[in-house]
Amino acid sequence: MRKPNEPVEELVYQGRIKVPYTWSVGEVGSRFFIELRDNQKIFGKRCPACRKVLVPARKICGICSKQTEEWVEVGNQGTVQTFTVVRYRSDVQPLKPPFGYGIIKLDGADTGMAHLLYGSDPAKWKIGMKVKAVFKEKRTGNILDIKYFEPI
Ligand SMILES: [Zn+2]
Repeated sequence: MRKPNEPVEELVYQGRIKVPYTWSVGEVGSRFFIELRDNQKIFGKRCPACRKVLVPARKICGICSKQTEEWVEVGNQGTVQTFTVVRYRSDVQPLKPPFGYGIIKLDGADTGMAHLLYGSDPAKWKIGMKVKAVFKEKRTGNILDIKYFEPI
């Protein structure tokens, strides 16, 4: 019998699970993604209480819990608030490294949006650098219709 604190061999089993599913992005998400897909425009919604422009557009303000109503087009350029650089290659990564994951506050928005950073030398990237959205040529109505944000 092992003692309670004695190290134990770690057993690992490999499994595979496939779960097909569909889900609705809702009324607000649909309009947001349709604007990306059809017009390469990025929209937020303004909270009627705190007046912040929330991007991506949200039905409810996360700060005030008020329902948003006013749509606001924001710029396709913004400022990097924070980021990390990915330098390893993996089949699950969306881009060839090096690339970054960042929070970008678009011009006219009050909240940051998570997305990919790509282009130029990541060693030169800085918090506060200006970036612009690069759209895919063939868009399908999801957040990756913006291929990534590149430094300008
Ligand atoms: Zn609010």
